[in-house]
Amino acid sequence: MIAEQLRRRNIRDERVLQVMARVQRHRFVPEALTEQAYSDNALPIAEQQTISQPFIVALTAEALMLQGDERVLEIGTGSGYAAAVLSLLTREVWTIERFRSLAETAAARLHAEGYTNVHVGIGDGTAGWPEHAPYDAIAVAAAGPHIPQSLIEQLAMGGRLVIPVGSREEQQLVRIVRMPDGLRQDRLGPVRFVPLVGQEGWAGEPPAQQR
Ligand code: SAH
Repeated sequence: MIAEQLRRRNIRDERVLQVMARVQRHRFVPEALTEQAYSDNALPIAEQQTISQPFIVALTAEALMLQGDERVLEIGTGSGYAAAVLSLLTREVWTIERFRSLAETAAARLHAEGYTNVHVGIGDGTAGWPEHAPYDAIAVAAAGPHIPQSLIEQLAMGGRLVIPVGSREEQQLVRIVRMPDGLRQDRLGPVRFVPLVGQEGWAGEPPAQQR
């Protein structure tokens, strides 16, 4: 996985590569899919969501330019896999998930696997998690039609936000850096994520009604 999926596609941050080698992705996929845990793609989890492709997790982590002492917010906990990766790259991670069932499973798994610096919350992450703001880095693991204003407001000066933006079918992974004179934006490439559903994302059924 490290050589073929990550190095070959130009993931260069050695800390990211080391952490990707350390986190056991097979602990975060449904048991029936254990054998596919290190394959080069997203895999289905509960609530019709997915655990992200390893390359996308590495690309996002690298783009956040983490040195080790940041406070990081993730939107879309899902399986908890990306939160585990981020937690080994930085000081503290807050991650928020709209499906209670996913949040609870991920929190239990992260705890069982010994990730002690991750805090899992339940709710609409398009509003961010204002209580712990500002964040040095924000990673959004679901794709919205535009960049939620709340997330920009919760970025520290110099902070980085990585988010897929576009239509429901295809998106660009975008990095925003908050600078004293405004926002700098660069494109990291075409991607496909599950939809970001919420106040500042796509409309959707409230999760409680889906179960
Ligand atoms: N980082 C996850 C990827 C999960 S897929 C992993 O490594 O497994 C994206 C997740 O975002 C889904 O679980 C989906 O339910 C969640 N999501 C979508 N919109 C959201 C919102 N507004 N707030 C919080 N979570 C959201």
